[in-house]
Amino acid sequence: MPPSLIAIDGPVASGKSSIGKRLADKLGYLFFDTGVMYRAVTYLALRQLDRADDPRAVTALARRVRIDVLAPTVADGRDCTVLAQAAPAGDTAAGAAPAAEDITWAIRGREVEASVSLVAAISAVRQILTEQMRRVGLRGRVVMVGRDVGTVILPEADLKVFLTASVETRARRRYEEVLARGETRPFADILDNLRERDRIDSSRAIAPLRSAGDAVTLDTTDMTIDDVIAAVEALVVAG
Ligand code: C5P
Repeated sequence: MPPSLIAIDGPVASGKSSIGKRLADKLGYLFFDTGVMYRAVTYLALRQLDRADDPRAVTALARRVRIDVLAPTVADGRDCTVLAQAAPAGDTAAGAAPAAEDITWAIRGREVEASVSLVAAISAVRQILTEQMRRVGLRGRVVMVGRDVGTVILPEADLKVFLTASVETRARRRYEEVLARGETRPFADILDNLRERDRIDSSRAIAPLRSAGDAVTLDTTDMTIDDVIAAVEALVVAG
């Protein structure tokens, strides 16, 4: 029996999503990328509040938004589909709920990446989203990826992997991903954002990015994606 709860954590662009998605597909498990939840709240905050740096307003927004992470509904290279349904602020009337909006690609933008780590450092937002993620995770047969899956969201995970790689390697991988989507962004801009997010993610007071004591760490700097997949699969087989 393969492990039922698999946690993969690591810094920005360490390969968590590519590896996690391939592993989940192979095992027939749900792939859950927890970063999309923070991205979704950030995107909606920027759009509805025009800012993402007001902890109270962002927390209130996180409470009234419903974010669904589903298997891909469109074959356009996405790893999952992200739907959001946010009631407008102060709306308590029992009216028709707003239609769910597909924000899968919108949450990958530069503005979201510039603010998401600040949103993720708001403790009340983390509490709200962590509860939702944990509920999904406890159903089992899941590969969950993020920063604090093995330490906070699912500390009871059966297998915990911590992926890492040099900052330049990770920035190059992210740059290539952006190009593959047909967008252009200067490499220096990507490298700066990645360093800044790592700094905030690692130093925040709550659920900072760190490897769980019982995680297996893989430095993927000199590994291909196939090498990493093979290494993680060996861990799955070993149980
Ligand atoms: O993984 P991804 O880059 O999409 O995550 C976006 C941001 O969400 C991260 O930079 C981090 O600030 C936050 N995050 C988090 N905890 C998680 C997943 C993501 O704080 N479990």
